[in-house]
Amino acid sequence: MRKRVGLVYDDAFLRHVPPDRHPEGPERLTSIVDSLKREKLWDKLEHVAPERVTDSELHLIHSSSYVSEVEAACATGVHRLDPDTYVAAESYAVARLAAGAVTTAIRKLIEGTLDSAFCAVRPPGHHAERDRAMGFCLFNNVAIGAATARAHLGLEKVAILDWDVHHGNGTQNSFLSDNSVHYTSIHQYPHYPGSGAAAEKGAGNGLGYTMNFPLPAGAGDEEYLSALEVFWIPEMEKFKPNLILVSAGFDAHLDDPLSAISLSEKCFAEMTRMVLRCADRCCSGRVVSVLEGGYDLPALGRSVAAHVRELLK
Ligand SMILES: [Zn+2]
Repeated sequence: MRKRVGLVYDDAFLRHVPPDRHPEGPERLTSIVDSLKREKLWDKLEHVAPERVTDSELHLIHSSSYVSEVEAACATGVHRLDPDTYVAAESYAVARLAAGAVTTAIRKLIEGTLDSAFCAVRPPGHHAERDRAMGFCLFNNVAIGAATARAHLGLEKVAILDWDVHHGNGTQNSFLSDNSVHYTSIHQYPHYPGSGAAAEKGAGNGLGYTMNFPLPAGAGDEEYLSALEVFWIPEMEKFKPNLILVSAGFDAHLDDPLSAISLSEKCFAEMTRMVLRCADRCCSGRVVSVLEGGYDLPALGRSVAAHVRELLK
């Protein structure tokens, strides 16, 4: 039977616009959409409109004072929440829709109307902390999805695999002492944001439910694939998640200007196959992949196409 793979996307995601030159701009999504059409994948996807995240979902991860701060910054024309992270007039509404894309996708998987989904969203999310915007991120889309699946959608255990080239500090901190959400990150290290040493393994009840694979500049396909094969897959067979979320950044690509890791598009395809094989065994194939980074536009478009092509197989 043909796989039903959702593409959760809205043109509204183009309305988070930087005040000046910035690597995280709307053209990233335009490049993805063009590539999916060029590669004849666009028509094979189930097109799903995201719903805005609710307050109760958003507040599972972010404090209400921080949410109000982002809203007020957009309303009053503040341009920066940290040296890297801008907001524009519509960014608050767009960021709520980006987080809602993930909860929308998870709901569709649980209802059984989709087998898997890719959320082509921005702003990205994995650096956003409970009380703080960071690293181009306003609300932590993946963390909100995982917490919503746990708190409101009846799932006991969620696994997050973060293959963005940067460590997902915000996601790790959201679930540091939580043994119901397993977080794994493979990233360049040392590198922005500075966290993600191998010794960071969780705390309290969550000890052992965080895994970090810091890799030196120059690492490539072999190191990423072996981290998954040797460590992550066996760990998932023990943890047995009910859902796998992927923080799918494509900035570890060879051509990306923000990193010194050199992944090929084939590696993104192979990692996707591994995630799907693992999900088939532990959670009826339920995978929701969520765009994080990726800043070389042609490489981003090609890498997302390679990823989505595997989801469709
Ligand atoms: Zn990144």
